[in-house]
Amino acid sequence: MYDVYQIRRDFPVLNQTVNGKYNAYLDTGASAQKPRAVIEAMRRIYENEYANVHRGAYHLSELITADYERARETVRGFINAADSREIVFTRNATESINLVAAAWGRQNLKAGDEILISEAEHHANLVPWQLLCEEKGCKLQVFKLAENGAFVWENFAALLNDKTKLVAVTAMSNVLGTVYPVKEIAAAAHRVGAKVLIDACQLAVHHKIDVRDIDCDFLAFSGHKVYGPTGIGVLYGKLDILQTMPPYQSGGDMVANVTFAKTTFDEPPARFEAGTPAFVQAIGLGAALNYMQNLGLENITAHETELTAYAIEAFKTLKGITLVGTAPDKGGVFAFNVDGIHPQDLCFILDKEGVSIRTGHFCAQPIVNRFGYESLARASLGLYSTREDIDALVAAIRKAQTFF
Ligand SMILES: *Cc1c(COP(=O)(O)O)cnc(C)c1O
Repeated sequence: MYDVYQIRRDFPVLNQTVNGKYNAYLDTGASAQKPRAVIEAMRRIYENEYANVHRGAYHLSELITADYERARETVRGFINAADSREIVFTRNATESINLVAAAWGRQNLKAGDEILISEAEHHANLVPWQLLCEEKGCKLQVFKLAENGAFVWENFAALLNDKTKLVAVTAMSNVLGTVYPVKEIAAAAHRVGAKVLIDACQLAVHHKIDVRDIDCDFLAFSGHKVYGPTGIGVLYGKLDILQTMPPYQSGGDMVANVTFAKTTFDEPPARFEAGTPAFVQAIGLGAALNYMQNLGLENITAHETELTAYAIEAFKTLKGITLVGTAPDKGGVFAFNVDGIHPQDLCFILDKEGVSIRTGHFCAQPIVNRFGYESLARASLGLYSTREDIDALVAAIRKAQTFF
């Protein structure tokens, strides 16, 4: 039994009022609130067993190293990777993708090769490929979505060919909510010999992820969006691919042997974790993933699917509102425009009502522009979201409309 009101008690921030009102936090797509389990896990480290990882052969350092590696194992289980050496800790998804662009891309791409992305990519899964293409003389190909934001197989397949060396797509759009058929995309990409990177930032918040089932070569997500701390991200890479990749950054903690003449590097994942890693955050992330698994990923998905349907119906009761992204397989992300009200003004009025949403282009400017907007409003759901949140949103929009 998924009791969302009980679950909300685990999240201290949600139990505060905002501007004296019920706190309708609808910006989980940008960053999720943290359950007490995460805060406590990190506090426990700082209070009881703090030391640097991987260095000292003393009690505290051994404890923390074991906890750090346990967190890696938790991440492995969370995405069903075959081996914990396939889990690289980074700062965030942005760094994970940059790591692949810098280490794998520089080594494997040459002039004339193509990278295929969708038009709804977050800038984190667009700009690194653009820069790599400029550097290497490769071509960035961009496939289009349908008018309602749905994934269109023909559009994708038309641009996939034997020059395609990498397909880099989001598993779920942070603007449209569209869920992409990543397993089928990966299979098609592999048939032409391309590697596949999945940006799982949004999908990981809402759905079980299985990298072996998807059969992707790389997958990235951020800790702060899956109820974990900031400053920690994950890159999954197939072990045989990671083993062939040169370092991304260099320095301490990633070398096998160093002389002034020559340095040899550690095996993955250490090779890609130069310097002191964000180990307290990694342990916090482990606690967040355990928290999600204890609730049950299927239960989280079911709760949010039900709430997404409720929200879509609630939006229909409003006049003068356009939902951008109405694909049938849409997740709990709602970008919208209200006629005659600038998103920034809307956001300001909603905030006075205790409703937190995001405005702008959501770091995915091309897809917002494609639908004819410079800026939109966006509400997004999390595992703690409720019908009351949606009702507060709709009531606040209605109130805003009376001002204009
Ligand atoms: C948030 C987000 C990113 C970037 O995540 P960071 O934590 O800022 O690195 C990339 N892709 C998608 C789909 C996102 O939602």
